[in-house]
Formats: sequence, C-alpha cells, structure tokens
Amino acid sequence: MTRETINVAGISVEPGQRGYGYLHVGYLAARTEVRIPLQVLNGAADGPVVCLEATLHGWEPMGAEILRRALQRIDPAQLRGTIYCLPLANPFSVEFGGSVESTGTRVNPADLLDLNRVWPGKIVNGWLTEQMAYVIWSEVLSRCQYLVDYHDGTGACDELPVAFPHAIPEDAAIESSLADGVGGLGGATRLTPEYIADMNAKIRGMAEAFGSSVIWWRQTPVNPAMISGHCLVSGIVPLVVEAGGGGQIDFTIEQGVECTLNILKHLGMIDGDLVLPKRQIMVERYIVYRSLHGGFYLQEDGIVLGAEVRQGQLLGRVIDPLTSEVLEECRAPVNGIIISRRLKMPINPGGYIAHIADVDSMIWSRDNS
Ligand SMILES: [Zn+2]
Repeated sequence: MTRETINVAGISVEPGQRGYGYLHVGYLAARTEVRIPLQVLNGAADGPVVCLEATLHGWEPMGAEILRRALQRIDPAQLRGTIYCLPLANPFSVEFGGSVESTGTRVNPADLLDLNRVWPGKIVNGWLTEQMAYVIWSEVLSRCQYLVDYHDGTGACDELPVAFPHAIPEDAAIESSLADGVGGLGGATRLTPEYIADMNAKIRGMAEAFGSSVIWWRQTPVNPAMISGHCLVSGIVPLVVEAGGGGQIDFTIEQGVECTLNILKHLGMIDGDLVLPKRQIMVERYIVYRSLHGGFYLQEDGIVLGAEVRQGQLLGRVIDPLTSEVLEECRAPVNGIIISRRLKMPINPGGYIAHIADVDSMIWSRDNS
C-alpha cells in the first residue's frame, strides 16, 4: 500500500521523511503568536499512529529532551507507522514564570489554566488554554491510536522513569474534575465491558513494555478533562509517564530514551529488543509525599533514586532557616522505593519531598535477567 503525504501544521511530510512545524493557535494582546511545536515522522511503511507529547506542564520540561534524543535515533525510512511529537505542548508555561518549586509554571501564564484539565478543549467561547487543547486534539491527537504523555519531577526533584498507567475501572466510572468554568465531559458513550477489557489490556502492555523499574497501576474513575482520560473514552490508548527532573541532564534522561524506544518496539514500529531493567514491579499504592511546612529542606544521606526505605525511616527535615528549629521530620509513610526525591533546599508548604512506590502493594513483578 502506498503511504500518503501528511499535511499538518503548515508542512507536508512525505513517506520516509521527517518534518518540523508549528500548530497555529492565535495571537496574544501584543500579537505574540501562540504556536505549538510539532515534529512528524512519516514512516515509509504502514503501522500505528502515535502521539508523543511532553510539557503539558511547562515546569516539567525533561520529557521534551527525552523525546528529542529518542526521535534522533529513528530513521523515518525504517519506521512503520507515524509519530506525531509535541515536545512543548504548553510553550508559555516553559518560558515564563516560576517559584521556589520550579522555573516555568504548571499552568499557562496567559490565562492561568492547566492544559491537563481542559480536554478536548473548545474553540468557541473557550479560554486560550482550551483553544490550544482544541487545536492539538483536532489537528493531531484525533488522528492517533496511541498517546504517551510525559511529565517529570518538576524543578524541585529528580525522578526515575516511571509509568503511571490509568486503566478504566470495571464499573466504567467517570468523574470530571475541571478547572472552574472550562472544559466538558466529552463523549463517553462507548465504555462497554469489551471496550474496557481491550483498552486496559493495551494500556497494561504498553506500561510493561515501557520498561521502568516501577509501574503504578491505577483503576480509579476516569477524568475526561485530562488528556489521558479523554483518550481513554475516545478509543486512543494513553500512557502517562514521568522521567527526569530538576531541569538537569542525568542518567534518567537516557533511561527515558530507552523507555520511549521500547514503546515503539512494542508497537512494532521499529526493530530491536526491549531494553529492560533487571526487575520490574507494579504497585497499586504510590505516595506523592509533600511537606506540611515551609523552610529549608535538608535531606538524609542515602535517600537517592531507587533507594529502598522502610516505613518510618527519616528522609529529611524541614528546618527554620533562622533558628535551626526542626519544623518537620519527613519520614517514609510506607515500605517502598524512592522514585523521585527533592533536590531543592528552599521549600514551601506542599512542596514535593519524594515519590515512594509502596512495595507492600505489589500486584505484579517480572525478572528480566
Ligand atoms: Zn505534570
């Protein structure tokens, strides 16, 4: 079968070629263009259509670097299928703003909305962030069969690659949690038992193939205002992943690259064996630990990525930077593995301390050695 030229974002990409362009959304008050960068790899042969997207939250830019590196390792002439890559889905949130927690922001600084709470967006009577979601959905995501959505540990924390598969609960529960006055429920009409079983099996396959040492399996109500939730109810298989953080290049970035290539191998789009860690586990409980107090955070020795901690073990302390008073002893709430841990010393109440995978909630494991 002859492959077709892809026309999107003002570019034409022939089969076996790669192209770069921008999805046009609009202009700000002073006529700054709102545009979303896009890379397209149009494979020479037929195969799945995949969207790789990062930086819905601009204070988590490491996914963009993982995707840049991963796609440089792919020759479109050897690729089966199509890759749409949106490495910087929420550009202004990368470029502007910041806090103690991170440079960049979680929300779009132009209208203060979270691009991961407005799907599938809208163009009429929509906020700018909703219009951005609409453009991404209508021009790119609605063409795709699979989505991988990249987040990271923010500027405050580093983070191992970790897959956060969100499966559909057996009772097909849907619970929309929207920012005020935005978004919509979307069309969740097809959640038959067969659809749920098929979707969940595909998500699980992608999560295991991604190849992170820890997978957090969730089967809680679907939120269709989130990009992954909207894909779930729209026939697009989504996988949320996190990798890297602290705005720094470290070993987690190359691991994230291998995980990304693993997904493409799993889907049959490129050749090669999966690159997997010696052991993988899947857990049902995963603690995103935040501080109660603000101050300076001083971490204990040995609290590194991948460290095994026992319930009650001291991870670090929040102290008063003036009086040295210990305001908070941050202790592991479970027996677990450190997936992400704080790098930054100044901390506000609610700042990230660590992600801890609860090993007592393990529901699956695999030895790959
Ligand atoms: Zn995020």
